[in-house]
Amino acid sequence: MTANLEGLAQPPESSNPDGPKRALVIAAHPDDADFGAAGTAHLWTLQGWEFSYLVCTNGAKGSDDESMAPERLIKLRRDEQRAAAVLLGVKQVSFLDYEDGELTASREFLGDVVRHIRSVRPDAVFTHDPEAVIVRDSFVNHADHRATGLTAVDAVYPAARDRLNFPEQIAEGLQPHKVGEIYIWGSEKDNFEVDITDVIEKKIEALRAHSSQFSEDFIRMILDRWKSPEGRYVESFRRVQMAF
Ligand SMILES: [Zn+2]
Repeated sequence: MTANLEGLAQPPESSNPDGPKRALVIAAHPDDADFGAAGTAHLWTLQGWEFSYLVCTNGAKGSDDESMAPERLIKLRRDEQRAAAVLLGVKQVSFLDYEDGELTASREFLGDVVRHIRSVRPDAVFTHDPEAVIVRDSFVNHADHRATGLTAVDAVYPAARDRLNFPEQIAEGLQPHKVGEIYIWGSEKDNFEVDITDVIEKKIEALRAHSSQFSEDFIRMILDRWKSPEGRYVESFRRVQMAF
């Protein structure tokens, strides 16, 4: 890991100097945004950023409970995601409702993400790693995560930026939008760390809000894993500063 220590708690300058800086977190399932970036979302919100979440699938497969019906799980996970967002100060949560476990990087999905980027007009997009299939020889990067990461980066460049991509959106009144930076969590090519030690309790609260997904034992286990020998916590990203 190559930490950019100068980057600690130093969000980039806004491309929108007249208003708050904006970030859009594009996540596959209701809980991924908080697992990957809740600390940064909360910390940067305290520094004046506006964060929005875009959740791409309905989360309908995320339960081992034999008595859990998909319809009930979808509603439960939406409520959990909204509750976590409120705790963090995330301004808006949107759901695309693609079927959990069946997401592909389709033209339709790309159009939905482009529309969202052109509406929110973020300075920064946070998302999954589109590259890795096997991570650290210890787990598989979920197919929905890969499809989401790939579609998010394809939406940033060039689709949201260029008016001849999805021109019907331009005809409706949306404008092309250039995202300045992409932050990818779960990457093996991390180059940027955000020290979230001061807000780790908020991240824990946000994870606890997803009670259908994370047990207290799991949260404690993962916190132990995340804690550095110095007792600090960071969220690590591959930061892509868009030259074009
Ligand atoms: Zn997920």
